[in-house]
Amino acid sequence: MNINTQAAHIGLEWDSRTGAVTVPVYQTATFRHPALGQSTGYDYSRSGNPTREALEKGIARLDNGYRGFAYSSGMAAITSLLLLFKSGDHIIVTEDLYGGTCRLFDKIFTQFGLGFSYVDTSDAAAVKAAILPETRALFVETLTNPLLKFADLPALAEICTQHELLLIADNTFLTPYLLRPLDHGADITIYSATKYLSGHNDTVSGLVVAKDPDLAERIYFHQNGAGAILGPQDSWLTIRGIKTLGVRLDRQQENAGKIARWLTTHPRIGKVHYPGLEDHPDHALMKRDSRGFGAMIAFEVDKPELVEQILLKTELISFAESLGGEESLITFPEVQTHADIPVELRQRLGINNRLLRLSVGIEDCDDLIADLEQALAFTPAGA
Ligand SMILES: *Cc1c(COP(=O)(O)O)cnc(C)c1O
Repeated sequence: MNINTQAAHIGLEWDSRTGAVTVPVYQTATFRHPALGQSTGYDYSRSGNPTREALEKGIARLDNGYRGFAYSSGMAAITSLLLLFKSGDHIIVTEDLYGGTCRLFDKIFTQFGLGFSYVDTSDAAAVKAAILPETRALFVETLTNPLLKFADLPALAEICTQHELLLIADNTFLTPYLLRPLDHGADITIYSATKYLSGHNDTVSGLVVAKDPDLAERIYFHQNGAGAILGPQDSWLTIRGIKTLGVRLDRQQENAGKIARWLTTHPRIGKVHYPGLEDHPDHALMKRDSRGFGAMIAFEVDKPELVEQILLKTELISFAESLGGEESLITFPEVQTHADIPVELRQRLGINNRLLRLSVGIEDCDDLIADLEQALAFTPAGA
C-alpha cells in the first residue's frame, strides 16, 4: 500500500465499538481488570495506551519495521535507546550531529561510561578506522543538520554487519515519506516527531522503530521501565500531523527547491547547501536512495552583520528554533541549535557566523522569496 494511504489511515478503524474515524484520546492512567489474572490488553498507561499504540503501530507500518515506540520527545527517544548499552560500550556517531544529541552523548551519557567517537560517516574508511573492540553501534543522521549531508546507508550497513554493530538512523529530516532507513539496512530508526511528522509546531514528541522482534522487546522493556512515554493528547496530535505528511512535504520540497535556486543567484549569498542542487556533493547518492531532497536549506550570507538583520527583518519567516512545520522558520545554528558542538568541530564543518538555516514551510513560494528579498535589501551599518 502506498505510504500516503497508510499515513492517512493511521488510527482509522481503531474503535470498532463506536466506529469513530479518528482514534479517540484515551485520557486514562489505568484500566480495569475484568477478573483476577485477566487483562483487556491494557493495564496501565505507561505500559500501553490505545492512543499511543495507534501511533506506534502507524509509524512501524510507515517505516516498514516490526514495532514502533512513542516518547515524550526526540531526546527522550534517543535516551531510551542508549539504555540498550552498558558502561564501557562505544558508539560511532556522525560528526555534524544535532547539537542536543551531541550534548546528551558527551555531557550526560559519558558520565555512565559510554564512549562516543565523532567521524565523517560519509567516509567508509574513517568509519572502519574508528571501530574499537568495544564498539557496539553506529549512530547516523540520514540527512545531517545543518549541512545536509546524506548518509550512504547500504554502505554503512555493510560495515555494521561485518562488525556486528547496530545501525541507528535519526531520520528526522527525511521521514519515512522520503526514506525508509530499515529498507536500506538500518536496525533502528529514531524521529524527533516534533518536526515533519507532527508538522504543525504544536507538540514535542519522539518515535523509534525497530526492525526485528528481539530488538523490539529490549526497547519495549526500557520504554516501560524508564517511562519516557508520549501522553495520549500528544500521541493524538502526532497522528493527526502524520495524516497529511505527504501533501505537506511535497509542497515544502517544491518550495525549498525554488528558494535554494533563487538564493544561488543572490549577490549577497555565498554557499547554499541544499541536496536538490546538482552541485551538492550528495545529490546523486540522494537521488539513488531517497524519494526527495527534503525542505531544509542552509546558506551563508556575505557578511556576519547581515545575519542579525535577516533574523530581525524577515516577517513571514519566523526567527525560531525547530523545523519541519507548515510555517517557515529561520535560525542561526552557531549560537542556537549547534552551540553544544565543540568550537573546532563547528569551524571544520562550516557552521560559522555567516550560516543560517531555513526550514521551508507550505506558504506560497513567491511570498517567501519576497520576504527574504526585502530582508536582504537593507544594508547593514558599516557594511
Ligand atoms: C529536534 C531534533 C532532535 C531532538 O528532538 P526533540 O523532539 O526536540 O527532543 C533530534 N534529532 C534531530 C535531527 C532533530 O532535529
